Amino acid sequence: MEIVPGLHRLRTPMTSKALPWITPYLFEGTDGVTLFDSGYGTPEATEALTDELRERGYAPSDVQRLIVSHAHPDHIGMASWLKQRSPDYELVLMGREAEWYGSMHRGGEEWMARSNEWLRQHGVDADEIDREAREHSAGPGQRASDDVAGETARHAHSMPRVAPDRIVSDGEVIAFDGWELHAVWTPGHTPGHLSGYLPAHGFVLTGDHILSRITPNVSVAPEDEVSGRSPLAEFLASLQKVADLGQTRGLPAHEDLIEDLPKRCGELAEHHEHRMTEVLAGVGDGQPTAADVSSRVTWNKPYDTFSIFKKRSALGETLAHLQLLVDEGRVRRVEGDAVRWERA
Ligand SMILES: [Zn+2]
Repeated sequence: MEIVPGLHRLRTPMTSKALPWITPYLFEGTDGVTLFDSGYGTPEATEALTDELRERGYAPSDVQRLIVSHAHPDHIGMASWLKQRSPDYELVLMGREAEWYGSMHRGGEEWMARSNEWLRQHGVDADEIDREAREHSAGPGQRASDDVAGETARHAHSMPRVAPDRIVSDGEVIAFDGWELHAVWTPGHTPGHLSGYLPAHGFVLTGDHILSRITPNVSVAPEDEVSGRSPLAEFLASLQKVADLGQTRGLPAHEDLIEDLPKRCGELAEHHEHRMTEVLAGVGDGQPTAADVSSRVTWNKPYDTFSIFKKRSALGETLAHLQLLVDEGRVRRVEGDAVRWERA
């Protein structure tokens, strides 16, 4: 699909039923092309990208630049595959994302152990976690998944190890081939998520920060509890930041184009406000764990039917809301063998 002359929306496959495609954007230049996001580094995905490029008269060796909205494997996954085909291309990431991306590579299996301990600490059943660990070692990535978080978790160890060539900061203009893409730091979904504003055309490439139908995953991860990061506070501020760009249209990395981006920002903020009320009601007058609160919140499917991967992401989201309630002085965190929560 050509959005404006020289800017195309491509598709490469995911293995998730909920999100079948990631949609990289292709900017044509005089002597090659720039991509905004890529796809998984799987053979099916790289083949799809090759076909998409060929249809427009290009090859992977014509890629001069890959700007990545964030370092999840469905966005940055082709970075090293591309380096083999176009060794001089420039990988562009936001500074905060590059730091975070680097820290993930130090994780490995240790990350899984830490993450499992974290689930236990927040009240997820230990037998269930062990069962997941066995399935994980039996064959990660072999099953089709119905949830994106699970897919991301299973691909976490197959992340490409490519150092960024250019680090950009908030407000910086990335200029190439007559295009001017303004880097907008939109943390929340990840700590250094980049959205790309094209003021000349009134479009924002929103990555996973804003999607047309689903609400992006905004979660507290184990390392966020150490750093004190509040992803939901970041996310809500980033929604406001995009809305403040004025009347724009959104080019997201999945799902459909967004005709009225400020309106969609408002809907997402409203969703979280509603969820905050539910989480607060889930805390009630007792001292539940975050897993207890998760089970009391309305999800798109009944909580009891969730796989452990989905429970992990539900827990992260619940914690993001609990953290914001703590920031606002409405809830208190009670340390103990298991972490509990009570109304302040
Ligand atoms: Zn994505």
